Amino acid sequence: MRLLLRSLTFSFAFLLILTFALSAQLKREAPPEPPILGFSPPHAAAEHQLEGTFQSIPSPEKAREWHRIFTAEPHPAASDRNNQLADFVADEWRKQGWEDVTLRRYDVLHSRPLSISLEMTAPVHFTASLREDAYDVDPDTKNPAVSGSYFGYSVSGDVTAEVVYAHSGNPEDYDLLRKNGISVKGKIVLVRYSNPYSYRGFKALTAEREGVAALLIYSDPAEDGYTKGKVFPDGPWAPDSHIQRGAITYDYIVPGDPTTPGWTSVPGARHIPPEEARSLPKIPALPLSWRDAKPLLENMNGPESPKDWRGALPITYRFTGAVKVHVKVDMDTSMQPYTVVEARIRGSELPDEWVLLGNHRDAWVFGGVDPSSGTASMMELTRALGELKQRGIRPRRTILVCSWDGEEYALTGSTEWGEQFADDLKKKLVAYLNVDESVAGAATTAGPEGLSFSPAAVASLAPMLVEASKDVRAPSGNSLYEVWRATVMRDSKASSPPLDSALVETRIGSGSDHTVFLNHLGRPVINLGFTGDYGVYHSMYDDHYWMLHIGDPTFEYHAALTRIWGLVALRLANSDVLPFDFGANGAALEQFLRELEQKNKVEQRRLALKRLHVRIAEFEKAGNLLRDAVAHDLLSGSTSPEKIQRLNEMLLQVESDWLDPTGIPGRPWFQHLLYSSRYTYAHLEFPGLTEAVEKQDWKLAAQQTALLEKAVGKNTRLLRSAQSSWEKNRP
Ligand SMILES: [Zn+2]
Repeated sequence: MRLLLRSLTFSFAFLLILTFALSAQLKREAPPEPPILGFSPPHAAAEHQLEGTFQSIPSPEKAREWHRIFTAEPHPAASDRNNQLADFVADEWRKQGWEDVTLRRYDVLHSRPLSISLEMTAPVHFTASLREDAYDVDPDTKNPAVSGSYFGYSVSGDVTAEVVYAHSGNPEDYDLLRKNGISVKGKIVLVRYSNPYSYRGFKALTAEREGVAALLIYSDPAEDGYTKGKVFPDGPWAPDSHIQRGAITYDYIVPGDPTTPGWTSVPGARHIPPEEARSLPKIPALPLSWRDAKPLLENMNGPESPKDWRGALPITYRFTGAVKVHVKVDMDTSMQPYTVVEARIRGSELPDEWVLLGNHRDAWVFGGVDPSSGTASMMELTRALGELKQRGIRPRRTILVCSWDGEEYALTGSTEWGEQFADDLKKKLVAYLNVDESVAGAATTAGPEGLSFSPAAVASLAPMLVEASKDVRAPSGNSLYEVWRATVMRDSKASSPPLDSALVETRIGSGSDHTVFLNHLGRPVINLGFTGDYGVYHSMYDDHYWMLHIGDPTFEYHAALTRIWGLVALRLANSDVLPFDFGANGAALEQFLRELEQKNKVEQRRLALKRLHVRIAEFEKAGNLLRDAVAHDLLSGSTSPEKIQRLNEMLLQVESDWLDPTGIPGRPWFQHLLYSSRYTYAHLEFPGLTEAVEKQDWKLAAQQTALLEKAVGKNTRLLRSAQSSWEKNRP
C-alpha cells in the first residue's frame, strides 16, 4: 500500500507556520547548537566520520540488481514466490553479517481468487476481460503467473442487477443519489478511484451500509491515465487496461489478521470465526480497468450526473439506466502462513534499546514501486550496515530490521509481529523507520528539481530528520535538504522556500506498516520516500520495466533513500541523548488544535478548549527549555553517562504517555491520543476529540478534551522533572 500524499491542509498550515516561525526567528537569537542533535562534540565528530564511511557503500547498480531479483515474478502474500523471497532475504542478511536472523510465522486468514467474471447482460451483451494487456517491449507483462482482477477479502457472490454510477462512492455521493430519487438497494454500484482520495476499503464499507449488492471500482483516466500524461510503456501513467488491485479490508477499525483482532496469530493461536470479524467486508467487489468500465457507463440512458462526477472518458456520465450486469466472484478464504523475516545488529553499549527498520515484501503483482523499490533500498541499507559491522563498527543501540508479509492485505505481518512482541517494543523501541515505496515517481518526468522528497514523521523527530537531510546528497548533486525545500516549494506553489519547521509532514495517516507501532504501541515513527508522477499503482505495469525506463533509470534515487534511511537510523542508534524535540512537538499540537477549531467552527459555549491550549503551551515551553538545556550541556561537555541514561528513559516515557489503553471511542485497538487515521486512511489528529466534535457530541468531546489535558499535563511534568534532575547534577 502506499502512503497518502501531503495533506490538503498543507499549504494553509504551511503559511501559518511560515508567519509564526518568521516572527519568532527575528525575535529570538538561536542558542548555540551542537554539531548533531543529541551528540556531544567528540561523538558527533566520530559520527560524521562513520557516516562518511556508511554513505560510500550504497550503490545504485546494486540497488538495480536487488530490484530485478524482487520484481522477477509476481509475489503476493502466501504465494510460493513470496515465501522463497523470505528465505532469500534471510540468507542474504546472514551473508551480510546480520545476527539472530529469524523467520517468524503467522497463520492468518488469507484471501485469493478462484474464478472471477463480469458480463453486461442488457442493453447489449459484453464480457469484461478483467485482464491487463501485454506489451512486447516489456516481456514481464506476458508472465502467465500475473493475476486478473480481484480485491483481497471480497466475499464470494453471484449477483445480477441494475448498475448505478455513484461517483467516488463516498457517503455524500449516495446522498446526492437519494436526492435524485435513485435507490442503490440491491443494485450493483460502479464507482471511481477516487476523487477526492479515499481508501477502497472505505468505499466497500459505505456501499455495504447503503445496502448495495455488489461494488465495482474502476480507474478513470482523469485520475491516473492519459489526462495526466504519457501512459505505459511510454510514460508513468496508466494505460486503458490497467487494473488497480488491492484489499478492501476494514483495517482502519482493526488491522492484522481479521480473525485475531488485538492478539497475535502465531501457530496455535485462538481465532474468531470470520463472521464475527469486524474488519471483513460483507459484499462482493471487483476492480475494473476503464476499458472494462466504459461499456457499462456509456450504455446508461438515465439522467446525466453533475459536472463534478464526470471523469475524462469521452462519454456522457449518467446516474443509471438500462444497464444490467452479472458479476461472479469466487474467492478462496483459508488460513495461510505469512512470514516475517527479522534480523539485528546487537548494540555495543545499549543492546536493549532498539531502532527498527522495515519494509513489506509482498506485492499485488511485481511490485516495481510498491514495495520492491523500498525492498531494494532496504537490501542496500542492510548490506551497508552489515559491512560496517564486519569492519568492527557496531551501533551503540541495537538496530533491528524486518521484511514484513501481507502488508497489502491488512498490514498483517507487521501487526502480528507488533502484537507478539508488544511488551518488549513498548519498553525498548526508540523509533520505527518505515519505507514502503522508496521511489514512487518518475524521475524522467519530474522536471529540474527532480522527484519530491516526501517523508512524514512524528513531530518530536521532525528536527532530527531535517538535520540529517543536510548531510545526504540527492541525485541532482545538491543536498537532500535543498532538494526537499525546492520540491516542497514547487509542489505547494509557494513563492518562498519553507522554513525548516514546516518541511516535515507531521500528520500521519495509515496505509502502511508503521500503523501498529504508532497507533497501537505508542512508539514514534518516520516514513521515508520519494514521490512524483506514478499511475500504475497495484497494476501489472508497476514492474521493473517501469522503474528502469521511467521511474528511476539510474537507480540514484534508490541509493539516496538508502543513505537518508541509514543516516537517521545511525543517529538514533548512536546519539548520546535521544534526539526528540518536544518543543517542536508542542508547536505541532497547537497547530493541530487550531485547525480542529477553525475547520469545525467550534464555539466556546459548546466546548471549552482554552485549558487544553494552555496545557499545550506549557508542554511546548517545557520541551524547548529541556532541549536547550541539554544542547548547552552536551556542547560544554558537562554531562555523565548515568545522567544521560536517566534522561533518555524519561524521553522515551513521554512518547509512551500518549497511549490510552482504552483506545479511541469505537476503535479500541487504536490507542494513540494524538494520532490515528480516518476510514479513508487519511491522517487524523486528536482522533477521539476530532471525531466527537465532528459528530457534535459535546459531552464526549468534553471527556476527550479532559483526557488530552491530562496526558499533556502529565508529560509537561515529566519534561520539567527531567530538566530539574538534569540541571541538579550539573558539575
Ligand atoms: Zn506498499
